[in-house]
Amino acid sequence: MLVVMQPRASEEQIRAVCQKIESLGYRAHPIPGAKHTAIAITGNTGEVESGALEEMPGVQETVRVTKPYKLVSRIAKRENTVISFPGSIATIGGSEFTVIAGPCAIESREQAFAIAECVQRAGVQFFRGGAYKPRTSPYSFQGLGEDGLRILAEVRRHFGLLIVTEAMDTESLDLVEECADVIQIGARNMQNFSLLKRAGRARKPVLLKRGMSATLEEFLMAAEYLMSEGNHNVILCERGVRTFSDHTRNTLDLAVVPAVQRLSHLPILVDPSHGTGQRSKVTPLARAAAAVGADGLMVEVHHRPGQALSDGMQSLYPQQFEDLMTQVRQIAAIVGRTMPAAAQSSGLPRTEAVVTL
Ligand code: PEP
Ligand code: MN
Repeated sequence: MLVVMQPRASEEQIRAVCQKIESLGYRAHPIPGAKHTAIAITGNTGEVESGALEEMPGVQETVRVTKPYKLVSRIAKRENTVISFPGSIATIGGSEFTVIAGPCAIESREQAFAIAECVQRAGVQFFRGGAYKPRTSPYSFQGLGEDGLRILAEVRRHFGLLIVTEAMDTESLDLVEECADVIQIGARNMQNFSLLKRAGRARKPVLLKRGMSATLEEFLMAAEYLMSEGNHNVILCERGVRTFSDHTRNTLDLAVVPAVQRLSHLPILVDPSHGTGQRSKVTPLARAAAAVGADGLMVEVHHRPGQALSDGMQSLYPQQFEDLMTQVRQIAAIVGRTMPAAAQSSGLPRTEAVVTL
């Protein structure tokens, strides 16, 4: 159930309603909105008796929530969640179309710096790169771990880019939380409930990737785990799901974007790199993601994809990424989104053979 407060309800009235809810043995989650504060009630096994709450000063109404997710729901919060970052003008979920770009994995300081320079020049504010990599094979490169995080921290300092990196387990989450601006939870961990609970207590926003075969409801319930622990800065990311189609690595489900936006106030990004697994398909699907109304993109870029230690096949060359940004910028404008301008085109080569970075 939700308790919707009157537009002019005081802090004290909101606190009193929360205390009342807690005294009944439930948990109260105040969700401030532009007009009203709504207070979601969790921890109830049956229906909550609404009478006593409805009579409290400052309460406008109580609303029964029939969906299993509450805090992520648009019923709990009508307006879109906009995530901002201390010391930065970047946002996720507002009028800006946000692009997160970088290599699949951090391989070395030189690699990370070369790619950070490219993506920043193209107008990107968020740098991605895994220090801990969930790999299908135990013999594949597993990431540099703490050394990778140190390199990311250097990228952050040197370029002023915001850092997005994955925490694979509760142990790495402590370190990731310190170094990252956004903690990524990967597709394989979307239903790792102990990891979700820990990330829900983190002080940093969480980017939650959709599980490979997760339904929309399962995806939203995973986000509910994060929010129910108190972290309201959650970013969803569609990265393709498993289907019978074998012409791409995964099937990018762009229809999930308007579906999420109807049900939830949380921002939703699209990852056309893992969504297709093929370099040639990343830009077309990135354009489609902007057109369908996504809040942004996550894209893998590498200055030498042929030598990448993971996901080289789907990583864009720097010039291809610049072209993607130019095209997406135009589409974003049509759907009423802004994007930071690029620095002057670098004229970087499009093929690896002549990359001189
Ligand atoms: C990644 O972003 O590098 C990644 C491993 O993605 P996913 O969890 O979507 O496979
Ligand atoms: Mn990858």
